[in-house]
Amino acid sequence: MLDQVRAIAAEAHRHLAQATTEQELELWRTRFLGRKGALNELLRGLGTLPADQRPVVGAEANRLKRELEAAFEQRREALVARARAAALEADRVDITLPGRPPVIGTLHPTTQMIRRITEIFASLGFDIVTGPEVEWDYYNFEALNIPPGHPARDQWDTFWITPEDSERPMLLRTHTSPMQVRIMEKQKPPVRVVVPGRVYRYEATDATHESVFHQFEGLAVDEGVTMADLNGTIYTFARRMFGERRRIRFRCDFFPFVEPGVDVAVDCWVCEGAGCTLCRRSGWIEVMGAGMVHPRVLEYAGIDPRRYTGFAFGGGVERFSMLLHRIDDIRLFYGNDIRFLRQFVA
Ligand SMILES: [Zn+2]
Repeated sequence: MLDQVRAIAAEAHRHLAQATTEQELELWRTRFLGRKGALNELLRGLGTLPADQRPVVGAEANRLKRELEAAFEQRREALVARARAAALEADRVDITLPGRPPVIGTLHPTTQMIRRITEIFASLGFDIVTGPEVEWDYYNFEALNIPPGHPARDQWDTFWITPEDSERPMLLRTHTSPMQVRIMEKQKPPVRVVVPGRVYRYEATDATHESVFHQFEGLAVDEGVTMADLNGTIYTFARRMFGERRRIRFRCDFFPFVEPGVDVAVDCWVCEGAGCTLCRRSGWIEVMGAGMVHPRVLEYAGIDPRRYTGFAFGGGVERFSMLLHRIDDIRLFYGNDIRFLRQFVA
């Protein structure tokens, strides 16, 4: 009967080496180690043996059982390891391949222009501040010397948040000028600030009009501030923005919150003033509005106009980009066309 034990051992080892899947391994276990497997069959036959042989064969059979159980575990672990190695091999990264460069965006042309504008004014001693886009009628119109019914209100077609005739009407600001009053309420002179920001107009869009665009606003208030200070500030800004050879021209214009008000133009940097399509043959390009702060506006902000004077100015951010880059349609700025945006690599 010991021969039978050895025969089972040899057969079991041979078959185990051939098992290559989990399923085959399980079949092997049933066949040799299972309740009705070869080894248990043999142990059940022990009773037919002479008494002196039983312990010898029994011990040998039990030793084989432990041996096969150990071999089974080893084989199972080997198969698992092999499967894992195959999976790793399949997922292997080829480190010799060139990498994929990450897509790096660029700042929006409007953001770039706001930075350019504010950097120039910061170098002239102006602080850069921002204000709310949802604004009270009071700051957007009334405190800027534009009372209800004033004809100047027609210039600013407004998105109303609450009805215009409600007790405290609220709107989307139509310009960045409301911050003039907000700043003067909080900060006593000297004041020197530039306010860039988004503004809203309720009007049809076309190549030169958008319902959402950006402006910048400047304000300087102190004792003894004169038109000459305004002139010098605008002159310095215009040369840094549009070129060192630029000349500037002031012409009278009307804005309710300044007195006097001026329209600021620079001589055309394309034709040097001779006349071309950019300057519409005039040799001049209007770039900003400006003026001395109206005494009423100072009063609204609680500043004594007999002691203090100030100047204010403002311009369109997209307009600057359009002039400098010869962009002929303002709608391109918010069309989200990446072919357009890509041309403005900072
Ligand atoms: Zn020109």
